[in-house]
Amino acid sequence: MASIPSSPRWIVLKFGGTSVSERARWDTVGRLARERHQSGNARALVVVSALSGVTNALQAIAEGAHDPAGRMEALVERHRVFAHTLGLDADDVLGGRLTALRALATDARAQARPYDWQAEVLAQGELLSSTLGAAYLRSQGLDFGWTDARDWLDALELPHQSDWARRLAVSCQRDADDAWRARFAAHSDAPMLLTQGFIARHGDGGTAILGRGGSDTSAALFGALLRAQRVEIWTDVPGMFSANPREVPDARLLTRLDYAEAQEIATTGAKVLHPRALGPCRTAGVPLAILDTGRPELPGTLIEASVDPVPGVKAISRRNGIVLVSMETVGMWQQVGFLADVFERFRAHGLSVDLIGSSETNVTVSLDPSDNLVSTDVLARLSDDLAQFCRVKVIAPCAAITLVGRGMRSLLHKLSDVWATMGRERVHLISQSSNDLNLTFVIDEADADGLLPELHAELIDSEAMPVRETSVFGPRWREIDGQLRRRPQPWWQARRDELLGLADGATPRYVYDLATVRARARALAAVAPVDRRYYAIKANPHADILRLLVDEGFGLECVSQGELEHVFATLPDLAPDRVLFTPSFAPIDEYAAAFAHGVTVTLDNIEALMRWPEVFRGRTLWLRVDLGRGEGHHAKVMTGGLASKFGLPVDRIDAFLAAARPLGVRISGLHAHLGSGVDTPEHWRSVCDELGGIAERIGSILTIDIGGGLPIPYRDEDEPFDLDAWSVGLAEVKAAYPGYLLAIEPGRYLVAEAGALLLTVTQVVEKSGIRRVGGDAGMNALMRPALYDAWHDVHNLSRLDDTGTAEFDVVGPICESSDVLGRRRLLPAATVPGDILLVADTGAYGHAMANTYNRRELPGETVLPAQGEPQ
Ligand SMILES: *Cc1c(COP(=O)(O)O)cnc(C)c1O
Repeated sequence: MASIPSSPRWIVLKFGGTSVSERARWDTVGRLARERHQSGNARALVVVSALSGVTNALQAIAEGAHDPAGRMEALVERHRVFAHTLGLDADDVLGGRLTALRALATDARAQARPYDWQAEVLAQGELLSSTLGAAYLRSQGLDFGWTDARDWLDALELPHQSDWARRLAVSCQRDADDAWRARFAAHSDAPMLLTQGFIARHGDGGTAILGRGGSDTSAALFGALLRAQRVEIWTDVPGMFSANPREVPDARLLTRLDYAEAQEIATTGAKVLHPRALGPCRTAGVPLAILDTGRPELPGTLIEASVDPVPGVKAISRRNGIVLVSMETVGMWQQVGFLADVFERFRAHGLSVDLIGSSETNVTVSLDPSDNLVSTDVLARLSDDLAQFCRVKVIAPCAAITLVGRGMRSLLHKLSDVWATMGRERVHLISQSSNDLNLTFVIDEADADGLLPELHAELIDSEAMPVRETSVFGPRWREIDGQLRRRPQPWWQARRDELLGLADGATPRYVYDLATVRARARALAAVAPVDRRYYAIKANPHADILRLLVDEGFGLECVSQGELEHVFATLPDLAPDRVLFTPSFAPIDEYAAAFAHGVTVTLDNIEALMRWPEVFRGRTLWLRVDLGRGEGHHAKVMTGGLASKFGLPVDRIDAFLAAARPLGVRISGLHAHLGSGVDTPEHWRSVCDELGGIAERIGSILTIDIGGGLPIPYRDEDEPFDLDAWSVGLAEVKAAYPGYLLAIEPGRYLVAEAGALLLTVTQVVEKSGIRRVGGDAGMNALMRPALYDAWHDVHNLSRLDDTGTAEFDVVGPICESSDVLGRRRLLPAATVPGDILLVADTGAYGHAMANTYNRRELPGETVLPAQGEPQ
């Protein structure tokens, strides 16, 4: 039996206005279509929009703007010029179309502006751009045909549709039979075809318009009708993101979504694709890709029916201008038809309701301005109407914050940080869709400012947004945009052999690279607005590190008498005025000892002053205040805020001064340390600014100390702290309060990256599908993961170049289930007992927090000789 050769399937490509307004972009259109045709053994159908701005100009004419003839003439000129740019003769290529364009301005119907005339006017932009494009691509030697989209897309008449919608916002038939497809395939020999978006055929033979998102919808319709291999929407953005990249530069490109998720994201936020455009592809099961004409090498977003969807939050979005209507009622709640009556009033005012929340006596609904004309007039009339059923309160403007993704219900436990952040705001309404795709919070619009980056980060940290699923999550916007500052290569990579030698039989062991400490110290010393630098020695009190930092001009900050004694034992000649003592709830003897040493003592409560006046009488103190909020990488390291034990609340400063005065206590410094790993330069600026204001009030202040807490990039995707931006913010505040010395007291920033913990692998075990690699120390050597869920990179130093990796949990030998240094880490699959693991960035709060739990010995410490020097 002879088989009938199957005709090649279609790939539909759609290009928007910016992609068809420049010659170089048309070259890209041609190249992409030809690639599809050649490598995909496909025919390419290219759907185009009008040149940028043309549809708006036509819209103005259709809506009766003055001087339609003059406006048409400007459009004629625009297309003539562009034809010239394309090296085409405008009269040859466009002659007839330009005549038709002019004629429409003086058409007898123009005065009355009937809808059929308006549709005709609006259609001209696509007809012109597609005609020019086809001529240009042919002139470049490409085998392109041209077809009129109206010959293939038929507008449907839907019940309840207005006359306007039947002409200017039509829906089209989405089904075609094989005969239709055969006709389409046969009507042109060209392997590549160009047609128009946005337009279709009305039942009366005239033109109809698809309305908003029109060209994307046209491409999707063609894709569905042709049973295409794929529809590609080429735009000027890389695809859909996990958040609006303008608001959240850390947003990830979403490389694969299923139709339902994409629909939800398009509806609740992303403007990349009109939600209407997905329907036809979804019904027909045709994959739809969003791609970036300017960056065709990026993966884009592929939307398709997925067989095994990745559960998790895919995107977070924010819609502004939401209006809430809260209806309070007494008694009539359970009455049949109550809700129907209420909603009938919304319908009568032409309002479509978005979200609904209800309780025994209250129903609250939200109105989205993008679906509704929610003017104050309309709302006033609606309220009047509803007043006969219930008490009405309008809450506006609000913002709707929506999380989208499959399996929202089973994720709720991972959202605790998100709930906590939301809980700080006034949440008016929470709605969870029963399709398990959407969770929406409605809060005051003003409260939503700046919230999205924070929520996005929390979703990632809690793994509610599973960014490690590389089949779904692509690069970050900042990365694509070239703004990502990468952390430098770690020092230990170049010293691998040396470290392996050191580790041999001598693990667990911390190793420190002093060159890194010195580099960080010098970077901070170069920050001009800072006058005094102290190193918080609790991060790592190793004697060599203290000596180095003092040598680099740093003072030292201690939090206990033990630290003080250690400092003076290590550096007997250190001037006491270079040492701070900032304890918390320390025994009073420690304060006395600190005064005896002559160091600067910081106090943070009135009670100690009152109880032990003799210890403080006549002394000069620094005062530690609590600015009422905390910051940091984990709740357990936020050292500000009313729930934290540190600092005198700002509203008790006057009481403190009143208690200090009779004792002759002078306050010469003002201190605040709000937390660790505070990564926004703006935060520092505001802390500094607040302290400046308080210092003015106190009067005797000489030094403002903004504490420590500078972050380091623990993860590959973390950026190094932006010292320049930080410095700019501090300089502004210094200019506002020029009379004070500005002090900082970082710990982590100086030493974290300089340290690495070396472990020897003890056992590798697989249990119930989870592979674990055990090291000869765990939470006893490094507490941070167990204590703060902290992240440290883990590497197999013995097999650094192995590419065949597998996921492991890295655990220690301690009898606690929290003895885990890292979960789901990629390590060489060949990892075996005896290999050396390196736990990175452990120079701060590593050895300093190590303990002998389970009677395991403390890890050793080795300071590495400067590179190239003999040992
Ligand atoms: C711990 C501490 C610091 C240092 O914090 P880092 O996050 O390591 O920079 C600074 N000041 C005080 C009072 C501290 O307790």
